[in-house]
Amino acid sequence: MKNRTKLWIIMLISIVFSLILFIWLTTLSGNIWNKGYDLNTLNAVSQEILDAIEQQNTDDKNEVRSILDQAHNQHPALRFEWLASDGSMLYDTSGGMQGYDFKQLADRFTNMPNNLWGADKPITLAYSASKNGQTYYLLLSLSSDAMKQGQVYFFVRTFKALYSWALPFLLSFLVPYFLSMWFFSSVNRRIGKLNHALNQVNIRSDVVVLEDKSKDEIGQLTRHYNSMAQRIRSQADEIEQFENGRRLLLSNLSHDLRTPLTMILGYAETIHTGLYRDEKELQTSAKIILQRSRYMDKLLDQLLDIARLDAGALEVQPVSHNLSEMMRKIVADYMLFLDGQGFAIEVDIPDGDIQACIDASLIERAIRNLMDNAIRYGKDGHFLGIKLVEGDDDVCISVKDRGRGIAPEDHELIFERFYRVDKGRNGEGLGIGLSIVKEIVESHQGRIQLMSIPYAETLFLVRLPKNQ
Ligand code: ADP
Repeated sequence: MKNRTKLWIIMLISIVFSLILFIWLTTLSGNIWNKGYDLNTLNAVSQEILDAIEQQNTDDKNEVRSILDQAHNQHPALRFEWLASDGSMLYDTSGGMQGYDFKQLADRFTNMPNNLWGADKPITLAYSASKNGQTYYLLLSLSSDAMKQGQVYFFVRTFKALYSWALPFLLSFLVPYFLSMWFFSSVNRRIGKLNHALNQVNIRSDVVVLEDKSKDEIGQLTRHYNSMAQRIRSQADEIEQFENGRRLLLSNLSHDLRTPLTMILGYAETIHTGLYRDEKELQTSAKIILQRSRYMDKLLDQLLDIARLDAGALEVQPVSHNLSEMMRKIVADYMLFLDGQGFAIEVDIPDGDIQACIDASLIERAIRNLMDNAIRYGKDGHFLGIKLVEGDDDVCISVKDRGRGIAPEDHELIFERFYRVDKGRNGEGLGIGLSIVKEIVESHQGRIQLMSIPYAETLFLVRLPKNQ
């Protein structure tokens, strides 16, 4: 059953139930707290007296007196006066002897029925009786305090009368129900929207964002849904990006491994079959094999690093290390490697020892990566600069070249995994070197920055804290 139907049923049942409850409770509480006489009771008392008097066949005045006294004893708050048809007093339970003329009698009734609701004047009711052919009058009076404090009368003589009270009565009962109905409907509608949106959540489709500014529980639930949906969306984007990266990696990898492998196989074959012309050609072939093998080794190292990073296994074990010495060694390697290749090398490493708390093998890998890139991608500038500066709390390592540089729009992206400026397969590399460098630097609580002016200066600046 739908919530709306349930609500209607509950509403109808509660209208009927509350009507019954209202009547029952007001009667009950009236009986308990609203003591006193009402007109019906007074009429019944009078009628009882008149019946008793009429049943007397004698004209004995004492009989009438005793009936009135008896009634007065039973109802001390009531005063009974027995009058002859000319208004003369025959008996008064409160001892009065004076009779009434018509004016005096009429005065007793002025301001009725207002007296009923608490005026100072007593309330008087008059009844006529005939006995033995004579007419008598019975006056019943009581103070308004002896009356009930309030009474609700409900008379319907004709159905037309129903119009006069049914509408206000129904409205007064229905307004709260309609208000709650409206409230529940709006709650229902909001839950329905949420339900629909939740149903739409799918990592492949766009997220349905719901607008609900209210601070109540449904509003909170909607906000939680929105943030959950956004998270799912961004995670789906990440997964998609990761998937694209994985696909790209596989295709690049097969290309990047096959090309050097083909060369290695070719040159190894030449050496193996002895088909080289002279010692120089043999040396060249061996050098190419060595270069290509190193390149493949580096690729595999990078892959291993990526796998370790993903598994959270790239453990940094910082120990105090002589950074300047380590850098001098790296530079010496590169000088040997670049010898005769027309590269100007600018080295600015202080002579003294610079100690820093680092994981030396990781930092060395990062620096070598930056230098490899400077040589590979900045080769047009024929320049390689390396500098180490010691600050109070940190050290700065910069690697620069004067090659084609990196366009400003690529500055952020360049540190992302699998990002290569040259999307074709003209260049080498998998686009993971800089992402590994960044992760290594950040795992040392350091920072890496890039500044690039094409053919003037492309500079990677690594800042590392001296103490971890
Ligand atoms: P890869 O491992 O393929 O070399 P990197 O993450 O090291 O990838 O570099 C990403 C991209 O950044 C490279 O494809 C290259 O285009 C660009 N790049 C990196 N260093 C330099 C540089 N010094 N000069 C110009 N481009 C660079």
